[in-house]
Amino acid sequence: MVIGIIGSSISGLIAGKRLAKAGHDVTIIEKNRSLGGRLKTVELDSLNLDVGLSRFDVTTNTFDSFVKTQEEEGIVQKWAKEFSYYDGLEVINDDPNSDSRQYYTGTNGLQPFAESMSRWVDIKSEEQAGGLTYIGPDRSKKRSWMINLTDISVFECDAVIIATSAVEAYGLMQTAQNKTESRRIIRHVDEVRYDGCFSLAATFDNQEVPDWKGIECENNSISWICNESSKLNTDKTALVIQSTPEFYRKHAQKSDDEIKELLFEEASDIVGTWVHRSKSTYLQGWKYFKTKNPINEYFMELELEDAPLALIGDYLGGSSLESAFVSGYNLSEYWIKKYTEITA
Ligand SMILES: Cc1cc2nc3c(=O)[nH]c(=O)nc-3n(C[C@H](O)[C@H](O)[C@H](O)COP(=O)(O)OP(=O)(O)OC[C@H]3O[C@@H](n4cnc5c(N)ncnc54)[C@H](O)[C@@H]3O)c2cc1C
Repeated sequence: MVIGIIGSSISGLIAGKRLAKAGHDVTIIEKNRSLGGRLKTVELDSLNLDVGLSRFDVTTNTFDSFVKTQEEEGIVQKWAKEFSYYDGLEVINDDPNSDSRQYYTGTNGLQPFAESMSRWVDIKSEEQAGGLTYIGPDRSKKRSWMINLTDISVFECDAVIIATSAVEAYGLMQTAQNKTESRRIIRHVDEVRYDGCFSLAATFDNQEVPDWKGIECENNSISWICNESSKLNTDKTALVIQSTPEFYRKHAQKSDDEIKELLFEEASDIVGTWVHRSKSTYLQGWKYFKTKNPINEYFMELELEDAPLALIGDYLGGSSLESAFVSGYNLSEYWIKKYTEITA
């Protein structure tokens, strides 16, 4: 089958990689120039800093065996088992409530983790899918679906996978809604809500690297401060400061400079006044940071004869990197059994 996948983050990439290895012809359509979605790494003063996901843990066997192969290839590494904690007054280094899990991170940022999965598929980047046209089995054209791209070209395929946030999936499903079953899917995705956040990356000159790896914060403005230098094993100091959803809601309309100033002000109470002396900064706003109410299914499928369509992503089955992976993996497993003759 010719399969078009909309969205190039972990769910779309793992589904695409497995379906391509099973003999399907897979193309991923991505609106941004770079792959990875919420796995985003930016280069600041020659340091690769994660302004999206900064660490993850593993709870399922499926994800565990995948992460182990990535570790062997040097793409991810074991990083920390626990973090420091800011209780609103002081930083506690040995947090008695710490859950002591194994956290992983990238060896040079987490975006390469996503990029490493893309070599099996064709990628159309900087191409936004604006809608879907169902052609169906009674057609004169060769394929069942047209993915309409916003540059007015189309991508024709036999099957579509929507691997975006629920909000973006809702918009795409609306354009293909002349089928009864799609109304059930639209109703479900319409109910999914997201929290937003800001991530502020900053580098510092002549500043000793902190001795903590990350601080989980009990604070109205900051939820997490990551010592990026500890991931990169460098003596150059770099932090990423992640805001709370409350801060995002309150300040989303402010200018970048105002947001940076507010975050540095809060961070200085936690780690010290030196944070005001940054060398370079990068601010990223995330409208869809985390799902508040995930859907209790691994994937959703619109079962049309001869024209498969499915939705995958972290909001299906959880709200984490791992749930996104498991969602894409489980759909590919199901479709490989259902549609593949050649299995790699
Ligand atoms: C700051 C931050 C911190 C996080 N921390 C953690 C953490 O500690 N632990 C954890 O497990 N998870 C964390 N997450 C969440 C984790 O990153 C996500 O769960 C995971 O990356 C979601 O992957 P996904 O496959 O669902 O898709 P997404 O990452 O949402 O990617 C969707 C992709 O689809 C593309 N797209 C959307 N619409 C279109 C369209 N119309 N046409 C073409 N392309 C389109 C987007 O550009 C994007 O690339 C964090 C996220 C952020 C932002």
